[in-house]
Amino acid sequence: MSEKLISIAIDGPAGAGKSTIAKLLAKAVGCIYVDTGALYRTIGLSVLESGIEPSNTSAVIEQLKKIEVDIAYKGDNQVVLLNKKDVSDKIRTPAVSEAASVTSAIPEVRAFLLELQRKLAREHSVVMDGRDIATVVLPNADVKIFLTASAEERANRRYKELIEKGEQVIYDEVLRDIIIRDERDSSRAVAPLKCAKDATLVDTTGKSIDEVIALMSNIVLEKTK
Ligand code: C5P
Repeated sequence: MSEKLISIAIDGPAGAGKSTIAKLLAKAVGCIYVDTGALYRTIGLSVLESGIEPSNTSAVIEQLKKIEVDIAYKGDNQVVLLNKKDVSDKIRTPAVSEAASVTSAIPEVRAFLLELQRKLAREHSVVMDGRDIATVVLPNADVKIFLTASAEERANRRYKELIEKGEQVIYDEVLRDIIIRDERDSSRAVAPLKCAKDATLVDTTGKSIDEVIALMSNIVLEKTK
């Protein structure tokens, strides 16, 4: 008999530490890590590279007909493919964050990525992070966690990440972008960012990565025993 697959959904706002935490948790519990933000970023990148304004909904929908988005794994690391080309490094810029946030509010964009995300969870045990994983993508996930932190702490983490990568950014602008992105992600009509009724809320403000992982491993044990 095949082993039962488990799915762990982690949602939360930008900069809450989802990807760092989800990656470590996936390793600890033997799942693959699926970063769904990277998929939305890939669409954002493709739109920017084609010279399309992200707010031009009909042009973005047209663009979907020309692209193929996929996920592959290099060891434990997820890479995202745009028309079979690895664009994992190109998607981590503030311009792509903004384009992803704008285009992800378009229902056709969300529908375009839905089946890929569900397929990954049908075929593997997954820790999947995003905004609507527990509410829309995997409503029957075994474990649902909503990971958050204060906007200032999230901006501070994002700022440090970008500076370490050599990007020239100003803290106040990073904070402003995070607040705008939260507002847009939470208020969109389709699949808004929200804590699912049956999710456990974990606030990472002031907590170390080890503390958060310990807390979450306990939640996973509790929910999957
Ligand atoms: O998580 P990350 O910051 O990489 O996501 C980039 C953008 O993609 C988010 O601001 C959000 O608008 C969108 N997104 C989404 N649904 C997801 C994951 C990301 O709408 N499941």
